[in-house]
Amino acid sequence: MIVVGGGIGGLGAAYSLTRQGLAVRLLESAPAFGEVGAGIQLAPNCTRILDDYGLLEEAKSLGVVPDAMVMRDAVDGGELTRLDLRDLERRYGYPYLVIHRSDLHGLLLRACQRAGVELVNKAQVTSYENTDGGARVTVAGGETHEAGLVIAADGLHSTARRQFIDDQPVSSAYVSYRGTVPAEQPRVRSVDLSEVVVHIGPHCHFVHYGLRGGELLNQVAVFESPKALAGKEDWGTPDELDAAFAGTCDFVREGLPFMWRDKWWRMFDRDPVMNWVHGRIALLGDSAHPPLQYIAQGAIMAIEDGWVLGEHVARNRAEDGTVDWGATLAAYEAVRPEHCRRVLTTSRKWGELWHLDGLAREQRNALLRARDTYDYSFTDWLYGPTALTPQEEQEMFTPIPLTSADVPEGRHVA
Ligand SMILES: Cc1cc2nc3c(=O)[nH]c(=O)nc-3n(C[C@H](O)[C@H](O)[C@H](O)COP(=O)(O)OP(=O)(O)OC[C@H]3O[C@@H](n4cnc5c(N)ncnc54)[C@H](O)[C@@H]3O)c2cc1C
Repeated sequence: MIVVGGGIGGLGAAYSLTRQGLAVRLLESAPAFGEVGAGIQLAPNCTRILDDYGLLEEAKSLGVVPDAMVMRDAVDGGELTRLDLRDLERRYGYPYLVIHRSDLHGLLLRACQRAGVELVNKAQVTSYENTDGGARVTVAGGETHEAGLVIAADGLHSTARRQFIDDQPVSSAYVSYRGTVPAEQPRVRSVDLSEVVVHIGPHCHFVHYGLRGGELLNQVAVFESPKALAGKEDWGTPDELDAAFAGTCDFVREGLPFMWRDKWWRMFDRDPVMNWVHGRIALLGDSAHPPLQYIAQGAIMAIEDGWVLGEHVARNRAEDGTVDWGATLAAYEAVRPEHCRRVLTTSRKWGELWHLDGLAREQRNALLRARDTYDYSFTDWLYGPTALTPQEEQEMFTPIPLTSADVPEGRHVA
């Protein structure tokens, strides 16, 4: 098998297929394996898979298992709602974990090395084609690699996606700044590191949580760029950061000096597509379903894709070890695109809800304040076991209309 891309999705898939006894070669364009960025949140639908892979204890030792996830209003700082993550762990059987991205990436890389995945760097795949018995990729320089199956896990700007679907990433006009604060800073002492906190506000939000056993505070500041809305090329630059948070509470504004100002992430997703399999070439991870990050499921979906593929290999393998790739890929495509479509569309809606202003913000706040901490009707479809078939996919929640909130119009101050 060939996996293209050594991000979290590609490494997860390579490990899952190797676990099924398949020989996997992974082609990565970069000269070395690595992840940029800071923290990542791993919900029970991911830690369940890490446990199945025998990697959960190592992941827990590298990350933090927080006690609560708290949502606050970014303007007045008041609490809106929370998840009790210890109770959530009891409900779903697996913990909610936060971990440094490079630690998760390193964990999967080491697992692939131990399992015998052939890891190849400086191999930039430029084209894909189906052959009689499988598929072939060509790398820059002209060399080709052929196998029974090719997985394209080459990220948001996927070459395979361009070749087979040819759509474009969709700009949200939002940009994300990240940064970590060392534990000795007074800022860290003022924070409860057992909580994952998101402050949501008009056209912006701010996330923080502890990393590496509390050695670091991870912060993410996200805002809508006026320059992007005006159609300017150089949008999302640091001069826009402070202005975007000017109306937020002291706690949020005091976090801004700690954001890295030399790099930022413009936030794109793509419209959902349902055709991920093209002969013996299959899209996986962000190449198939890059989301906006609001429900923190991008890397998780990528890890789930690889796990589902591995489970279907096991179900479609003859006694002599040959795999029925047609049946395996059909089963993969029957279940994953629909799940990810739901995540992508929900992420967009969830982001809109976070960034409301005026009366709608007050209505949202009233609804969130009224939510029972132990009501799991909005998370069961996401955090339950990853479905292997469409029948196993859990029903989605029923959205509550904002207008049902008990906020008299007159109370609203624009
Ligand atoms: C600010 C932010 C916060 C996020 N927070 C979370 C979170 O809390 N939880 C969560 O689950 N997700 C989160 N995500 C999403 C998550 O980071 C991504 O969905 C995930 O990393 C995608 O992994 P991937 O392996 O599919 O793609 P990528 O990480 O993009 O990896 C693709 C790999 O392919 C390689 N490559 C590209 N083109 C080629 C080529 N032609 N030939 C060979 N190699 C190639 C690249 O070098 C790269 O190594 C967040 C994203 C952002 C931006």
